Amino acid sequence: MKQQPPPLPQTQPPTLTQATSAGATAESSSSSNMVAHAICSLNSNNNNSSSSSSVETPKCRPPLYPKPKTPSFDKDRDYIGFATLPEQVHRKSVKRGFEFTLMVVGESGLGKSTLINSLFLGDLYKNRQMPNVEERIEKTTRVEKKTMDIEERGVRLRLTVVDTPGFGDAINCEDSWRVCTQYIDEQFRQYFTDESGLNRRNIQDNRVHCCLYFVPPWGHSLRQMDLDLIRRLHRKVNIVLVIGKADCLNKTEVRKLKERILQDLEDNHIQLYQFPECDSDEDDDFKQQDRELKASIPFAVVGSNTILEVAGKKVRGRQYPWGVVNVEDAEHSDFIKLRTFLISTHMQDLKDTTQDVHYENFRAQCISQISQHALRERGKLKRDSISSTNGFDAAISETDRLLLQKDEEIRRMQDMLTQMQEKLKQTHLMEMKKNDSVIDV
Ligand code: GDP
Repeated sequence: MKQQPPPLPQTQPPTLTQATSAGATAESSSSSNMVAHAICSLNSNNNNSSSSSSVETPKCRPPLYPKPKTPSFDKDRDYIGFATLPEQVHRKSVKRGFEFTLMVVGESGLGKSTLINSLFLGDLYKNRQMPNVEERIEKTTRVEKKTMDIEERGVRLRLTVVDTPGFGDAINCEDSWRVCTQYIDEQFRQYFTDESGLNRRNIQDNRVHCCLYFVPPWGHSLRQMDLDLIRRLHRKVNIVLVIGKADCLNKTEVRKLKERILQDLEDNHIQLYQFPECDSDEDDDFKQQDRELKASIPFAVVGSNTILEVAGKKVRGRQYPWGVVNVEDAEHSDFIKLRTFLISTHMQDLKDTTQDVHYENFRAQCISQISQHALRERGKLKRDSISSTNGFDAAISETDRLLLQKDEEIRRMQDMLTQMQEKLKQTHLMEMKKNDSVIDV
């Protein structure tokens, strides 16, 4: 079946049913933009965003996906019915809803929170607190998880954004990567435990499906700390590189920086998320879109939560004295390409790669560790039993000797009994013959 390319610019914001921020730090983030207002008005009955349990359904919910047509059995005699299988799968998954976990890594001030809010039209960083200089010197990287339930055309998505505030902020940031790798491994371990448990029906998937790694626009290429982290993460998670605040660079600078980054990755044998090959039977528009997405890596993005009016049109952009950067304009930034890739075209593939490649690697390692442990334990048990056998050798052999004697006695008695029975039988037969001959005479 041919896959239709999704429409590129999305003008209708999805319905945000509830935003939750577990462990969120506080910030007076500007929410003066229209999108935030639209979202806030939907959330007006729900200002307390600390609980994540209930998902409120908006009153005027957009129509659900069209129901599959009921087949007319009378008219179409050749109709069996399995052609509706895709619709059945579709309805089931829409009912269940979707989960996606995105990790955002990069030093502070690179525009991470602005970009996430722009991508998902939410305000996930409402209560953010910025650390001061003294706090930053000693600060260690930590993990903050924020979850929001969003709904678009009846499709529900539970989005979890895993942020790593403090990443690269301390003077010594050698261990910043450790927090990220530990978090990813913990989620895999939890999933592995849940999957091996008795109740596997309602497993919550908290595994990290994608890691957006922010590269600063002011360097010449990747720094040592970028390479260190990416090298440690690239076999655990789908890494997608993003050049933040790309409006600092002109077109040539963006192109050169992208080339140098790709060269660095190649020289260091680092493999980021691999886009799947486009099927040959896809239509030309889709193939073209796929080519453009692949050619844009790493995405050079500009983020903004402000809606501006340019030539009578409302655009998401950044106002400068010399003009407006339109975030959604492909000439200004790869924002739309990133959003198309992350949300519209490759979200499911990111999840599949997490399951089939990264989690499978982790699972294989776990199983090999468990079997090695079991082998060691078995070897230990064998050794223990051999040494205990030596200790009790004398006692056991004495008992065995007595048992063997008794066995032998029983066997001899059984033989005697059989012989006696045989003799009795023969005597009886002889007597019978004698009696017969007497009668004959
Ligand atoms: P974070 O610490 O990485 O989450 O960065 P923020 O999203 O909080 O952004 C830090 C500052 O950079 C804010 O003043 C933003 O308005 C600004 N900012 C965010 N994105 C961009 C961008 O794409 N270009 C420029 N020039 N500034 C940006």
